[in-house]
Amino acid sequence: MAQIGQVLVDVPTMQTNEPYSYAIPDQLQDQVEPGMRVTVPFGHRMVSGFVVGISDESDYDGQLKPIQAVLDLAPVLNRELRQLADWLATTTFAFRITCIQTMLPNLLKASVERFIQPTDEISAAERTTYFPDGTARPFDTEKLDEATVSGLLKLRRAGKVTVTYQVKDKAAVKTLAAIVPALPATKLQEIATTVAKRAPKQAQLLTYLQTMGDQPVAQTQVAHEAAVSAEVIRTAVAKGWAAKKALEVYRDPFQRPVQPTQPLTLNAEQRVAVDAISAAVTAQRAQTFLVEGVTGSGKTEVYLQSIAQALKLGRTALMLVPEIALTPQMTNRVKSRFGHAVAVLHSGLSKGEQYDEWRRIDRGEATVVVGARSAVFAPLHNLGLIIMDEEHESSYKQDENPRYHARDVALWRGRYHGCPVVLGSATPSLETRARAAKGLYTRLVLAHRVNDHPLPTVHIVDMREALKANGDGDFSPDLLTAIQARLDRQEQVVLMLNRRGYSSFMMCRDCGFVLKCPNCDISLTLHVDTHSMKCHYCGHEEAIPRVCPNCHSRKIRYYGTGTQKIEKALQERLPAARILRMDVDSTRRKGAHERILKQFGSHQADILLGTQMIAKGLDFPNVTLVGVLNADTALGLPDFRASERTFQLLTQVSGRAGRAEKPGEVFIQTFNPDHYAIQLAQRQDYERFFVTEMHMRHQGNYPPYYFAAQLTASHEDEQVAAKAMYQIVAVLKQGLSPNAIVLGPTPKAIARVKRKYYYQVVIKYKHEPQLQAVLEQIRQGAQQAQRGLTITIDPEPMNFM
Ligand code: ADP
Ligand code: ZN
Ligand code: ZN
Repeated sequence: MAQIGQVLVDVPTMQTNEPYSYAIPDQLQDQVEPGMRVTVPFGHRMVSGFVVGISDESDYDGQLKPIQAVLDLAPVLNRELRQLADWLATTTFAFRITCIQTMLPNLLKASVERFIQPTDEISAAERTTYFPDGTARPFDTEKLDEATVSGLLKLRRAGKVTVTYQVKDKAAVKTLAAIVPALPATKLQEIATTVAKRAPKQAQLLTYLQTMGDQPVAQTQVAHEAAVSAEVIRTAVAKGWAAKKALEVYRDPFQRPVQPTQPLTLNAEQRVAVDAISAAVTAQRAQTFLVEGVTGSGKTEVYLQSIAQALKLGRTALMLVPEIALTPQMTNRVKSRFGHAVAVLHSGLSKGEQYDEWRRIDRGEATVVVGARSAVFAPLHNLGLIIMDEEHESSYKQDENPRYHARDVALWRGRYHGCPVVLGSATPSLETRARAAKGLYTRLVLAHRVNDHPLPTVHIVDMREALKANGDGDFSPDLLTAIQARLDRQEQVVLMLNRRGYSSFMMCRDCGFVLKCPNCDISLTLHVDTHSMKCHYCGHEEAIPRVCPNCHSRKIRYYGTGTQKIEKALQERLPAARILRMDVDSTRRKGAHERILKQFGSHQADILLGTQMIAKGLDFPNVTLVGVLNADTALGLPDFRASERTFQLLTQVSGRAGRAEKPGEVFIQTFNPDHYAIQLAQRQDYERFFVTEMHMRHQGNYPPYYFAAQLTASHEDEQVAAKAMYQIVAVLKQGLSPNAIVLGPTPKAIARVKRKYYYQVVIKYKHEPQLQAVLEQIRQGAQQAQRGLTITIDPEPMNFM
């Protein structure tokens, strides 16, 4: 009986969420495997698809259409990842094909050229038949005849050929103009002598060329080092003294060689943690650990030594970090411990680099993977340990389909492989800490900083008083005095401006008019650099108004403070200070984060002024002062996690101070000095915060006491969005038990974004066995919904904005 391939077509709709059956043509019998990509006829066109199963029968009575071509010689998703994709689709209400695409590196989605290459195993006869040119040939299954494809597939199974991919977009390879000497050194010397008098600059360049060796050097670097202009270089090339070359640029900022490090001698708390985790690694136990360690307690060393244990047993390890660009120090520490075994996955890599890393992992050449959220899908075999650093970070949750949380995926993979999962944080999410309290997770505590360096002393500055005293709402006298003291002692300062819930908006002091985006329901932000007002949601930009558009008063001013304005104000107050600014604007260019941090690390600046992005993971021994300019702007956000986020942020950023010998000090400026999140952050008392916040959540029936799911409808017509939500509420009320709490529909806090209106419903529940089915029903219904209406389902939202 002919074989049948079950294919998920790459058409993300409800109707195509189940695989379709296709006949496997004779010449492809036994060649098609689950996990391979294929092209198949679908309607009147060809689409790509994904083989999820092979069977001998079909429920389909008619004539099956055949698979057109096989795109892979080996499966691109193994059995584990295929099962994971199914689980992901069910739990996040996403299409199966969307989940599969999410798990694959971009290159496997992009337009690529495949080449097939003989290995040493191939026989002379096979080489002549299949490789008439003797070398690699393009492998385009739609152009080659079936017999050749089938033959090549057989060779691949025998290990006689391999396939390589190249992105079609050649521009993806970045090059720089570079220079190499075109003549031998003696000849260059000769010319230099003859031109020395008449053209000293050319002689200078000729001398430089003699010292270069034969490796190309970037033209800008040549100009700089030889101290000549581009014109002089052009002349040298024209005269045939030097030649131009295209130099491929190193695009991975982490590929630089790093100093190897040895394991440190653990302190007692670290020892207990490493022993417990290692025991679970050795026993292949899917145990979940919470490593709750104050900032600077040496959590990273615990991770590294636990990873070493997994490697020693011949297993692999996965380490997740919130945002790789923000944590270069962490990546470097892993690299310097494990060298070439480490693969780094992040969005900053080119498609080709990403794919290379992915393949190195799949082949078992890389056994330690470091990466942000999507690295949780790294095709590691034989996982021995998964670590999730800063597990409370909301960047682990994806805000688009599939709306998965990397923590849940990590726990799934831990169960699959029988390996422990370590969740680490100084300020664990309430959900995680509550599970540890219930005994579901094993809690390991690092209560002390390494070498008993004390935690920094934290001062709360009441800005209401400061504002009254000197009319300055940005810098209190206390903070300025403390900064000056650091400047005098040549120590360094980190200053954070909390951008969440904050912006520089224009308001009329006469009529209260606020300048808003015409497309979105939020105020426009002032940008000093471009002299314009910009919308941070849709990018709308307009001129800074001089008079109020509403009442024509001239008293329209901007409120709030951007990092640029703060930088300027600070420089005015402390003219001698060298300030580095780190925010979205100053870090837009690739590698900018790392560059700024490096400059700061080598003390080329005294003050690092930045947004929340400076709160994470920085370890600079010379930083003895941390200032938080506005601690409370995020407290007023309509989100039940507002206090938790504020506490986490303040604790994290405070932890940047006094990490080495010199003691640290922190100043928190706030207009809400009595708020518990701020008071407890001052004491860096996570446990007290946990108890207090749990009480608040209990009162409000919020997670972790209740689960919360969120449904959103959006449409250009407000009525349509609202009506859809009322219908959904009716379905929910009918399908769920009376214990479920359905809130809404309400317009979202930011009700209009990019010309669409948003309405939401929040479901709070404890135990609703029917919920999955009801939400599935709503999703099915959404398919038939009105044009332009989008319904999203988030089973565990991190944001209620
Ligand atoms: P955390 O991640 O908990 O904030 P880190 O892992 O960054 O803390 O450790 C803080 C500092 O202490 C780092 O510079 C690290 O190298 C150092 N450190 C960690 N463990 C030890 C140890 N056992 N002995 C000496 N130094 C250590
Ligand atoms: Zn006005
Ligand atoms: Zn807008």
